[in-house]
Amino acid sequence: MIPVTTFAGKTVAVFGLGGSGLATCQALIAGGADVIAFDDDANKVAQATQARVGTADLRGIDWSGISALVLTPGVPLTHPDPHWSAKLATNAGVEIIGDVELFCRERRAHAPDAPFVAITGTNGKSTTTALIAHLLRHAGRDVQMGGNIGVPVLQLEPPAAARHYVIECSSYQLDLAPSIDPTIGIMLNVTPDHIDRHGTIEHYAAVKSRILGRAKVRIIGVDDEYGRGMAKNLAAMQREVVPISINRIVPHGYVGGERNIYRTGASEAEDIADLTGIGSLRGSHNMQNAVAAFASCSALGVDDETLRQGLRTFPGLAHRMEEIGRKGAVLFINDSKATNADSAAKALASFDNIYWIAGGLPKEGGIAGLAEFFPRIAKAYLIGRAAPDFAQTLSGKVPCDIAETLDVALDHAARDAAAAGKPAVVLLSPACASFDQFPNFEVRGNRFRELVQGLL
Ligand code: ADP
Repeated sequence: MIPVTTFAGKTVAVFGLGGSGLATCQALIAGGADVIAFDDDANKVAQATQARVGTADLRGIDWSGISALVLTPGVPLTHPDPHWSAKLATNAGVEIIGDVELFCRERRAHAPDAPFVAITGTNGKSTTTALIAHLLRHAGRDVQMGGNIGVPVLQLEPPAAARHYVIECSSYQLDLAPSIDPTIGIMLNVTPDHIDRHGTIEHYAAVKSRILGRAKVRIIGVDDEYGRGMAKNLAAMQREVVPISINRIVPHGYVGGERNIYRTGASEAEDIADLTGIGSLRGSHNMQNAVAAFASCSALGVDDETLRQGLRTFPGLAHRMEEIGRKGAVLFINDSKATNADSAAKALASFDNIYWIAGGLPKEGGIAGLAEFFPRIAKAYLIGRAAPDFAQTLSGKVPCDIAETLDVALDHAARDAAAAGKPAVVLLSPACASFDQFPNFEVRGNRFRELVQGLL
């Protein structure tokens, strides 16, 4: 745990006790602060009281004695409407921050030179974060990884001089981290998402860009207009930017080609890595993640050869085009995290002769937007509530089997793929949420993995 010493002797209000909230309370208490914690869910308040955290309804306290409101990133700060606790804090002139901000202040107070890589973007955050942590560990560095992935940031080991922090930051966390000052700030990409919570795409992009403002090294994906805009603005302010791209040559940056990574100068490009055969980094989207990871580890002084070796041993993340195994010529892939058509597109683009398991709780737009990938699909096995709709979209273009459940879908897909007598892929990439049949995408993916392991 990282004791939060920067509020020692002060009183801090904490709202939101799920996820990272309780860890935040404990870190504040360990550092010598008084905490008044609350949540709209009475069970969570009871749990906090049991864990010996002081609780009280924040509507009934005297805000003049409060030094800060620490808000969980799960509740609205601004849009569609500020949460009631945020309104109370604002009215009392109390600053509103989150756990990433507390971490940044601790690092500045105790080990300002501890390397700190902060990663954001609409897509690819977790993969890039995990890959950077893997590469740095491979290079023998002392690495703490957390934030929006795995462990809440304040549950990591305390800052120390050579300890590297690799922290995934959601836009909600960045909204609550006004002074974030990473050694390396990474902006992977920006596409419309979570606009309900940020008002407009411009505001969403502005919140995300906070990761760059005080960074020493700024790595920016310039393949979308927002990333390009940020790079341009920073360059105009004479701030150094390392641009990355997977679809054009950018000078003084890093470029991902079909399978190779290049470091570019003013007009030359050096081939520095080849991702061919790395199963955990299939697809152009993972090329973007790998390029960002390579650029950031290079900036931290890791040599190219060590990075090349490290890339080859990256295990990848569960449920994101996760290779489970092979039976004969059939490869089994778990891409349960693909809860919308955009994500499923990434997986469909990465394979041929696909026996595709899809469906669940449908999202708006369905799978009509995936038509360009239909020729890659040998047959579709449809499950959950989306099955009839998906069957209609695929009708006349892709043979379909309304399997209804994951068990049946896998059974049929594995049988058909094996009978095809040529290299094939059984791919779970549902393009749907899981909630009609599973508690979440992890449980869905774990079930798929179990079933496949039973076959292998
Ligand atoms: P995040 O943490 O931002 O949600 P993940 O690394 O967990 O991202 O990847 C989630 C899904 O997003 C992947 O399964 C893939 O479909 C897609 N994805 C991953 N990286 C990228 C990228 N760089 N650009 C676009 N889509 C991506």
